[in-house]
This record gives sequence, C-alpha cells and structure tokens, in this order.
Amino acid sequence: MTLGTEILIIGGGATGLGAAYDAALRGFKVLLIEKGGLANGTSGRYHGLLHSGGRYVFSDPQSARDCARENAILRRILPEAIEDCGGWFVTTPADPEDYAGRWAAACREIGVPVEEYPIAAALKDEALLNPQISHVFNVLDAGCDSFDLCHGLARAAREYGAQIWTRRKVVKLLMDGNRVRGVQLDNSATGEIETVLADLVLNCAGAWAGQVAALAGCDVRITPGKGIMIAMNSRLVNRAVNRLHPPNDGDILVPVGTVSIIGTTDTPILDPDRYEIEPWEVDLLLKQGEILIPRIREFRALRAWAGVRPLFDPALQHSRLPADFKLQSGVSTPAESRTITRAHATLDHSDRDGIDGLISVVGGKLTTFRLMAQHALDLACRKLNVERLCRTDREPISPPGRKFYNLGQRLESLKRQKGSEDSASSSFQPPPEYRATASESIICECELVTRSQIEAALAESGSLVLNDLRRDLRLGMGPCQGGFCIYRAAGILHQCREEDQRITNSALVEYLQERWKGIRPLMWGHSLRQLELDLRIYREILGADRLSLSRTPEVYPTERIA
Ligand SMILES: Cc1cc2nc3c(=O)[nH]c(=O)nc-3n(C[C@H](O)[C@H](O)[C@H](O)COP(=O)(O)OP(=O)(O)OC[C@H]3O[C@@H](n4cnc5c(N)ncnc54)[C@H](O)[C@@H]3O)c2cc1C
Repeated sequence: MTLGTEILIIGGGATGLGAAYDAALRGFKVLLIEKGGLANGTSGRYHGLLHSGGRYVFSDPQSARDCARENAILRRILPEAIEDCGGWFVTTPADPEDYAGRWAAACREIGVPVEEYPIAAALKDEALLNPQISHVFNVLDAGCDSFDLCHGLARAAREYGAQIWTRRKVVKLLMDGNRVRGVQLDNSATGEIETVLADLVLNCAGAWAGQVAALAGCDVRITPGKGIMIAMNSRLVNRAVNRLHPPNDGDILVPVGTVSIIGTTDTPILDPDRYEIEPWEVDLLLKQGEILIPRIREFRALRAWAGVRPLFDPALQHSRLPADFKLQSGVSTPAESRTITRAHATLDHSDRDGIDGLISVVGGKLTTFRLMAQHALDLACRKLNVERLCRTDREPISPPGRKFYNLGQRLESLKRQKGSEDSASSSFQPPPEYRATASESIICECELVTRSQIEAALAESGSLVLNDLRRDLRLGMGPCQGGFCIYRAAGILHQCREEDQRITNSALVEYLQERWKGIRPLMWGHSLRQLELDLRIYREILGADRLSLSRTPEVYPTERIA
C-alpha cells in the first residue's frame, strides 16, 4: 500500500500530537505515525507537573520563560488535562538557607510569578509537610494528565482532518538523493510493510529522535536521561511541592488524582528501550521524600515507573564532544544528564546536514510541547513556501465546560442516575467518556470504570490492547493495580472483538506484565500482599503463565509473568 500526505509526523507523544494539531489547524494534510499507542513514550511516563518555570530559573532561564508562558496558554486551551492544584517551593532543613531570596529575585526578573506564603498557614494547609520548613513560596505549578492531554490533542487534530495511525513503526526513511520523500512502516497489527510519501517529515520521536534521524544519515545525539518516580497511594499533599535548592533527585511531590508522585532521578542511559528500576533508586526517592514528608514511609508505595528524558545538548553535537562520549545509534551518554538544558531545538536538516524534507524537534519539556510544535510548523511553512500562521495559542482544544476529570465525577454521575436530590441540584456535567449509569456493572471498582465505557472505548479505538484502555479510561490504575478488573476487561474485549482467543490472552499477559513491572521494585507491606493475591488469581486460578499467545508481549518482552 502506498499513500501520500503533505506533512508526516513521527511520534505520538505530546510533541508529535501537538504538531499534528498545529499542522491540521494551518490547513495541511497531515498523517501522524506512532509505533505503540498514544503517549506510549515519555509523555505517558512522566512526573505530571505543568511547570510554572520556577524549577529552571537558574539552570535554564530560557526554559523557565517558556514554561511560564506555556503554562498560562495551556490552562486556557486545555483545561480538561490540567488539575489546578497550585504549587509551592519550600526550604527544608536540608536546603541552603540563602537560596530562597536569590531564587525569588530571579523568578521575578524572568517573569515567573511567585509570592511568599506564611509558614504557619502552610503547615495548617499541608498537615504532613516537614514542620521544620523555613520558607514557602506560592507558584503557578499545576498537575497535568498527559493521557487526557494526548487524547485531547488527537481528538482536535482529527476534527481538523489529521489522520493518526498507531502501532506502525517507521523503519526506513525513503530517500531520493539528498531528499527524504517518505517513510516505510512496519504495521505491528498486520505484519505488513506500508509506504507513505510526504512533502515533509517531522521527526518528533523524543528519546528516539536520534535513531529516526540516523535513518536519513543525520547525526543527532540525544542523551536519554532515565528518571524514576513512585506513586504513593494517598494524596499526601494537595499542591505540588518543590524544594528550594538546585534541581536534584526526589525533590518534587506532585498530587495526581487520588495519589501523590515523588520523583525523580536523572541517570544517563545508553538505550531508551532498555532500562531497569534499581532498588537503590527506590530507596533514594523515599529518603529524599522523607525530607519533605517525614512520615512518607508509613504510606503504601503503589507503583514505580520510569521514563526517559529526550535531552538534547547542543554542545554534544558534531565535533565538540566530551572525553567520555559514546555513540550508539543516535544516543550519547555523558557522565551527567541533570545539567543538560531542558530547552528545545528545531533542527533543519537541510542547513545542518544537507538533507532536505526532514525537520527534527528535540529536547524540551511536556509543558513546552505546544511551543515546540509551533516552532516546527513555522519552519515547515518556510520550507514549503507557504505563509500560514499558528493558531494553537488561541483555539481552545477542550469543548466548552469540560473540566479536569477526577474520580468524584463518576460517583456524581452515578448519583445523578439514581436521581439523588443532592446531585440533582449540581450543575456539574462529567465528560461523556466518564458518564456512568447506575444500572450497569462496574468492572474496575478502584476507578469506577463500567462495562459500557469499556465497550465504547474499544469501539472508538478499534484497539486489541488492554493497556490502551488503561490510558483511555484509567482501567486498573487504582490500588489493586488491575488485580480484580483485568480478567473481566479481557472477557469484554474477547466478546466485543470475537477474535482468536490467543489475541485476548496476549492482551491480558501484556497488561499484567506492564502492571507487575511497576510493583516488583516495591515488594513490601501492602503492595507485596496485593501482588501475592494477584499472583494466586492469575497464575494459580487462571493459569495466565500457561496461556497460548498470538504475539510476543510487546511491553516487557524479556520477562515471564513474575
Ligand atoms: C522522569 C521524567 C519526568 C518528567 N517530568 C516532567 C514534568 O513533570 N513536566 C514536564 O513538563 N516534563 C517532564 N518531563 C519531560 C517530558 O515528559 C518530555 O519532555 C515529553 O514528554 C517528551 O514528549 P515527546 O512527545 O517529545 O516524546 P515522547 O512522549 O517520548 O514521544 C515520542 C514518541 O515517538 C514514538 N516513536 C519513536 N520511534 C518511532 C518510530 N520509529 N516510529 C514511530 N514512532 C516512534 C515513541 O513510541 C513515542 O511515543 C519528564 C521526563 C521524565 C523522563
């Protein structure tokens, strides 16, 4: 099969989806290609903070300015993805006492709004916070749900005519002399190789951008910086709390829905597809967490996961390389990744490498994805000789009235269905995918996901992957981590699709492996008890480790179940 498009985008994370939306809004014919599901890469494995800019005022003033500006824009255009919890920067006994004053002055100079807050009031607001804190500043940090963000962008891009294809990996860039003419795709659902021709290819492949650029012979050195995070099974704080010191490991706690996430670490790795969560990393995060919340270890650690930062250090490109530099197909590994800029770069490969038809967008933060997309599309317009202005800072993506989802919305919806007097007076209207009827069965008790929501999500996405339901509906994200709901969801998947039994088996095994991968580093207390119970259910009762499979599980191919 051969197709044609004007702009082809590689990567279905925040940057690629932002670029697809921007390009579609400017009237281009657009096709986005993603090798997994949407938010399969770093965008689905990040810390969840919409930065105010405060974190980067010393280390990265440009990134701080970008974050401050984009924070205000995203609150306006995508409120459904943003939990406006607010944020604090606090001085703990482990932080330099003179940092706070210098930091507040730098924020004001750069344009990051900050305001000192009385300590007595702060300790009343956040009962678990270290009582020894000596400064508290209010900032405009917020929580940002990247699954809602990516789904919102995909929906908006499609409304403007963009096509989005998932589970297709770009395996080759088609060259005509020094010009990229299109791509070859490996369709993991059918096993077919497909060809798409394009006027311009945008490489938004995040930590894999170096590998994609290498397909055209371009040398783009990305430093993949691994960061781990731990979700604590409780809302330990109600706003994002950062420490007032130079950015370091485990110094931010972000409340997300019903949990709080302590993170992160930052370690350079060789390959963005190969990494483990080490016991010392878990220990380090909890130790650092105790500085903010002294009682943190009394709470259940629910899940650990890691993401890979797509860091781009201009100083590492081409000839100016440090002595400890190693190159492995588009990847560089300097000794330290914490110090690499968080700013982004838009690479015009015709100027840089003599290759036409290819632009790479690298580095940046999730908070700055819209600006990265804008810069890429501004350059694309110049290359294609057209003048079309960016409108993504003005056009709202969220439908009118759509707010950030929280678990209470489904309860509210159920109460409404029962005609409760309390809820009848509420003007609140949850988004359609979270509406539930009182009469139907709840499949995931932790996140209140119903049978009809699962059926609707499967019908809309056409997906055979239970992990997609996790991202679409939060299925299995609660305290039981899928223990009681995934075999039920697998049954629904099988009924809806009427596919070969082995396809459902594979979806189930993939899901379990992905979930258990995150519990394995935290095997103590209630998490260990829950895991033991899940193992009894899935291995001993359901025989999940002996099922015949249709495909090698894509998420964690090297491990058998537990
Ligand atoms: C631990 C950690 C914590 C972070 N916390 C924050 C935070 O709190 N706030 C913040 O603003 N930022 C944060 N970041 C940074 C932020 O998450 C990333 O900068 C951002 O998500 C990158 O988005 P992206 O779309 O560029 O890359 P990705 O989300 O990785 O998207 C790239 C996509 O390309 C796809 N792809 C790759 N190769 C191919 C191919 N050959 N064919 C098809 N598809 C391909 C991948 O599957 C992937 O989905 C954090 C990062 C890490 C690692």
